Amino acid sequence: MEFEELDELYQDIILDHYRNPRHNIQLEAPDIQAEGNNPFCGDEISVKVTLENGRIKEVGFQGRGCSISQASGSMLADILEGKTLEEVEGLTAIFKAMMHGEETSEEELEKLGELAALSGVRQFPIRIKCALLSWATLEEGIEHFRKHKK
Ligand code: ZN
Repeated sequence: MEFEELDELYQDIILDHYRNPRHNIQLEAPDIQAEGNNPFCGDEISVKVTLENGRIKEVGFQGRGCSISQASGSMLADILEGKTLEEVEGLTAIFKAMMHGEETSEEELEKLGELAALSGVRQFPIRIKCALLSWATLEEGIEHFRKHKK
């Protein structure tokens, strides 16, 4: 297997999310939606969320592609509920820092929960894009939402 160098526990978490993606539902009237792809690897991601009182209420995630991109998207979907958009942006910054090998505190990593499993992907530079795809996609969706809301 391709990622055999990854810690075994991390591998299990990634494969579990890949095989059983969370929040694989279609949201009919999302407040925020975005699609992203990583042509280099053939990954495709669709993220949709609904908002209520400034917090994320429902999350819908669909995609196809490699295990890293899909597991990352599933884990992202899993932590979004109940968060404000500012909180999501904070997590995005921490996740990006982790994936780029920048310094992150224990406390910050704790906020990422299972997503810390993706830290091992840093050993495979071409796969960092796969891990970041769903985050970059959601970021664009949030930006678009802010620009167009009244
Ligand atoms: Zn990929």
